[in-house]
Amino acid sequence: MMQIFMPLNFLGFVYREMKGSLANIEKMFGLLEHEPRVRDCEGAPPLRVNGGEVVFEAVGFGYGPDRRILHDVSFTVPPGHKVAIVGSSGAGKSTLLKLLFRFYNLDSGRILIDGQDISRVTQDSLRKAIGVVPQDTVLFNTSIFENIRYGRIDAGDDEVREAIRLSHLEGFIGQLPQGADTRVGERGLKLSGGEKQRVAIARTLLKRPPIIVFDEATSSLDSQSEQSILEAIAEIARGQTSLVIAHRLSTVVDADTIIVLDQGRVVEQGSHAALLQLGGTYARLWDIQQRERGAVAVPLP
Ligand code: ADP
Ligand code: MG
Repeated sequence: MMQIFMPLNFLGFVYREMKGSLANIEKMFGLLEHEPRVRDCEGAPPLRVNGGEVVFEAVGFGYGPDRRILHDVSFTVPPGHKVAIVGSSGAGKSTLLKLLFRFYNLDSGRILIDGQDISRVTQDSLRKAIGVVPQDTVLFNTSIFENIRYGRIDAGDDEVREAIRLSHLEGFIGQLPQGADTRVGERGLKLSGGEKQRVAIARTLLKRPPIIVFDEATSSLDSQSEQSILEAIAEIARGQTSLVIAHRLSTVVDADTIIVLDQGRVVEQGSHAALLQLGGTYARLWDIQQRERGAVAVPLP
């Protein structure tokens, strides 16, 4: 269920951004009907992004009336900072991202971007301001080059090539029979999880949104792919506000702040070093992951 939601909505953004201009639209329409209905307020102004500060203020939320998923969640992502959210599966991490995109309305509290309540601005402007690298990326039945251009459909070829380079896709593309013109999809090439994620990173690089969210894929990547994806993320996140949901804690050691979510509540927050020192939930998670990594040679911070 969860794994499917982000990509469908991601497709929603893509659709809205290129409305009327491309094939595959019927397919997207079918998918879009699943999108929950959240309405713009009467006369809602567009969001105006300055630095890209994100504030969650006592956010409470449940998908239905009988089960609360988030309880009184508060945290701030200062402009240009990288904040990571960690916690076990089902803690509510992806839900936080869905709320930031306003796929649902809150039950209580507010989410603010540069001081503006996101429920009072147009959804269109909100979603334009945020770039997402989802857990599972939707690819279209066209060339890999055009798949990347979906990030910003008016991007020039040179810009697409630059995004390919920065997202470390050159090596992969170089090995394909027709290079970047190789088709992906049903009858074309199948991409691995890590390759798809790099396509999503390249799209986000083209879009250059002021706020970036990254929902890390749960599938385990080998440590070389992981390293190259980490470098690509660092590239898109440079100087931009970023919110990273991390399963592998190696993704978060360099975050300005790490938020630890447990059963829908923020139980700890601080830097990697501070949280290790605290010796609580984060320190336990870190210990477990270090042990799981076992013999794999990973440099510790
Ligand atoms: P995480 O990303 O931390 O693994 P999620 O935010 O995906 O956690 O999910 C938090 C809780 O919300 C889980 O118990 C999950 O089953 C539930 N949930 C997620 N999406 C939906 C949905 N669309 N409808 C109902 N419950 C959902
Ligand atoms: Mg998740």
